[in-house]
Amino acid sequence: MTTGDERAVRPGGVTSNPYPLGLRLHGRRVVVVGGGAVATRRVPALLDAGADVLLVAPELTPALQARADAGRLHWVPRRFQPEDLDGAWLVQVAIDDPMAAASVSAVAAERRIFCVRADDRTAATAWTPAVTRHGPVTVAVLGGGDPRRAMTVRDAVRDLLAVRLAPDGIAVAPSRPDAATGATGGRQTGRVALVGAGPGDPELITVKGWRLLTEADVVVADRLVPGLLLDELRPDVELVDASKIPYGPSRAQEEINQILVDRALAGASVVRLKGGDPYVFGRGGEELLACASAGVPVTVVPGVTSSIAAPAAAGIPVTHRGVAHEFTVVSGHLAPDSPASLVRWDALAGLHGTLVILMGLKNLAAITATLIAHGRSPQTPAAVVQEATTGTQRVLRSTLDAVAADALTADLRPPAVVVVGDVVNALDG
Ligand code: SAH
Repeated sequence: MTTGDERAVRPGGVTSNPYPLGLRLHGRRVVVVGGGAVATRRVPALLDAGADVLLVAPELTPALQARADAGRLHWVPRRFQPEDLDGAWLVQVAIDDPMAAASVSAVAAERRIFCVRADDRTAATAWTPAVTRHGPVTVAVLGGGDPRRAMTVRDAVRDLLAVRLAPDGIAVAPSRPDAATGATGGRQTGRVALVGAGPGDPELITVKGWRLLTEADVVVADRLVPGLLLDELRPDVELVDASKIPYGPSRAQEEINQILVDRALAGASVVRLKGGDPYVFGRGGEELLACASAGVPVTVVPGVTSSIAAPAAAGIPVTHRGVAHEFTVVSGHLAPDSPASLVRWDALAGLHGTLVILMGLKNLAAITATLIAHGRSPQTPAAVVQEATTGTQRVLRSTLDAVAADALTADLRPPAVVVVGDVVNALDG
């Protein structure tokens, strides 16, 4: 039983506030009794905290079974016995049967082990809060016995934290104008994050990428980065449009590397925002090396790559059971007969699986002709997906022998992904 305010009534009728703690469970035994849905939800956070989890349950859900099989927890495949609590610091009772749960709590109480009860919060000696994590910060909310209230408050806090928090967990003032101007003033070296922005839909950035973006002092963005992500930056953030750097491609890359290094050495948190995934034809490796050799700490946040997302957005799975057991992602920016090409088109023609071609529109006629010349069937389904996951997405379906001409007729333009293989029609009724 709980009251309407932030307090809970104990069985004896005494009202008291819970006392919050952050348990440091690394290497410490936590016993979870039960192997169903509740345990499945509780166990990951315990493992994340490094706890030595002993799971006592006659049966496990497949998710828990997988963790047991992987050796991430110890599973005792039977009902609870008192000696299961030997050496335990905490016990979580995740079973429905109130009698069985009460007997576990009784043993825990006898041994002075805190006990969380999924079946009866008022009988528990500890409550699990609603949690949000933001980098190193953990916010835990107890709702006075009402988990939904705790979740509502937690969600509000999470939204607030997403607005502004420095990577080291210290909230900083919303404006740091000197960070971007090269004034060192004895400040520490900043950092660079190479962040994948996803294929186009601004919601397809990762949670981590989004957090770093909201924390950045400087954002260096590519042409293919979703504009809406940039719209939401704070006004004091320095935005460098990498596509406007007025040199040839290799000089421009050097220039970008220099901007990343200079700003970080001046103390700024720099996000290098790249379309899709930073390491898929994104020159992310070069930027990482440039930062590393200048002594700038750099992290990589993978992104949703257009090579998988563009087909998906057109209803094409890159693999499908019984249809394709492989997918190959290849750049088509050089013609197949170009001496500089690193792609074995003849060998690719011999594969049965899915071929995903990026930057291939310009050379599509030569590419498809080469694939057919080396044995891929001219009737192989093929599709082109332009501006995938955006409001202007276009999809063209064709066959290998016709797709280049069809794309021309339809006036398809970059950015576009070409998909070749039976998966193109795999989900058609
Ligand atoms: N790093 C990016 C790819 C960069 S190369 C990624 O992982 O997605 C640029 C090429 O990616 C474009 O020429 C095009 O082939 C493809 N591309 C990127 N975004 C796309 C989109 N929204 N729709 C279709 N193709 C896209």
